[in-house]
Amino acid sequence: MPLTVQPHRETLGLKDGRLLIGGEFREADETWTHHHPATGEEIGSFAVASAKDVDAAVLAARKAFDEGPWPRSRAGERIKILRRYSDLLREHADELRGLQALDNGVPLSFGQIYATSVGIAADIFDHHAGWIDKVGGQTLPPYQGGDHLAMTFREPVGVVAAILPWNAPFVLFAQKLAPALAAGCTVVVKPSEYASFCVIRMVELLIEAGLPEGVINLVTGPGNPTGEALITHPGVDKISFTGSRTVGRRIVEASAGTMKRVSLELGGKSPAIVFADAPNVGLAAMTCMGMVTMGLSGQACVAHTRALVQRDAQEEFISMAQMLAGAVTFGDPFDPAVLASPLINAKQLERVLGYIERGQEEGARLVTGGTRLDGDYASGNFVAPTIFADANNDMAIARDEIFGPVLTVVPFDDEAEAIRIANDTEYGLGAGVYTNDVRRAFRVSKALRVGMVGINGFQLEPHLPFGGYKQSGLGREGGQSAYEAYTELKTVMMPLTDEMM
Ligand code: NAD
Repeated sequence: MPLTVQPHRETLGLKDGRLLIGGEFREADETWTHHHPATGEEIGSFAVASAKDVDAAVLAARKAFDEGPWPRSRAGERIKILRRYSDLLREHADELRGLQALDNGVPLSFGQIYATSVGIAADIFDHHAGWIDKVGGQTLPPYQGGDHLAMTFREPVGVVAAILPWNAPFVLFAQKLAPALAAGCTVVVKPSEYASFCVIRMVELLIEAGLPEGVINLVTGPGNPTGEALITHPGVDKISFTGSRTVGRRIVEASAGTMKRVSLELGGKSPAIVFADAPNVGLAAMTCMGMVTMGLSGQACVAHTRALVQRDAQEEFISMAQMLAGAVTFGDPFDPAVLASPLINAKQLERVLGYIERGQEEGARLVTGGTRLDGDYASGNFVAPTIFADANNDMAIARDEIFGPVLTVVPFDDEAEAIRIANDTEYGLGAGVYTNDVRRAFRVSKALRVGMVGINGFQLEPHLPFGGYKQSGLGREGGQSAYEAYTELKTVMMPLTDEMM
């Protein structure tokens, strides 16, 4: 029987999505119809914010920032509201996971994995609420002459445009909104057109938590017109973006005119370096293959999609990865036995199949997968978990972010070669090192030009900085530096005698 997710629309009480501008939910002139990536069915529609709507949203955020209570509120008040919001997220976790399954087809089973769950989003809000009464400036001694006081203050950066991708809406909403709101900023959030319904609900819950009018504004719609209107608006002080490198570059360009502050979380082609002395080569293979198949089907920025495997360990690695590939299940995202998602849209499906073809043309060995699923899955964008072996680092499948269920295995002989191959990329988001030799583990971690290294495993947590070197982005999310990225630093000085006047 062909797949359908229609009954879940009723159960979840899905409504058409509206904009939120200055505390008021509004329709727009145009709407976007969302089709489900697993079934192709029409799920619902939401407002497409025009340039005029975006202008109204930015002006509302501007007014709330320039005149409203939020940036001036006491630390205790902001902490209370953000903690109330964390509680609301936890109470609504099942509903939000269901909405996400209708949006991007991520199965309920994966919605429970901590790194991308509603639970981590709630913890991120709690984490940043904790900074509110702790981050401050400094008092500095005079450098030369005179008796004076010098101090610094941290102040909210202003109006923030938060632009989200579709693949991990809970955690990425929280990584942007939590520090921005904690610091006292006001926000215009734009979810991806492929994951809007769950974000709309997250915004409604922020209102329920008690955020004052205009502090949070929501504009739904695609990159054009909605995203473009937001990134070029002179009333925006900071853009916080997660998504592709192409759009990241456009944002840097667009921000130059008014010197907007910019934080970017972009793509990756993260290496996992598996030495023959790894404590468990099979487990390393399961981790890499799990990252490129389970849950998001490899549509994850930090997935270790390039497995650099020491030659002696190759066969063991590949056979375990292959075994996991065979265990991945697809289908109705609401079925608890389903473990992986479809690709998000037809364009992405074509792109992934194109890379698989290119890998074969370039001479890599296709171990398993490589095809689109048919039969009951034919109306969805499903691709079988795919492994390429005997690849080299010059091949497109080893260089480009494919964003699909494709693991590229590149053999190496020694540590120096592994480091050279790992760093031979334009990206620098994450990496894995698998070895039993603790000194080697740290030597290699230090040599890698990446933002995050997992030694014999990988875990994302709310308080850990997250982000990349090189073309994987600018700045970090998570932790104190993320909070500070939503502030400006002001220096105030005052002579204590007439001598310096
Ligand atoms: P995308 O760049 O296509 O879209 C991201 C967002 O930008 C969407 O909301 C989209 O509507 C918007 N957008 C598109 N064009 C725009 C424009 N001209 N102006 C303003 N906004 C515009 O990315 P995607 O397909 O949603 O997500 C996949 C990408 O995100 C991958 O490259 C992945 O690696 C990256 N990603 C990175 C991280 C990270 O933390 N480093 C996390 C998740 C995803």
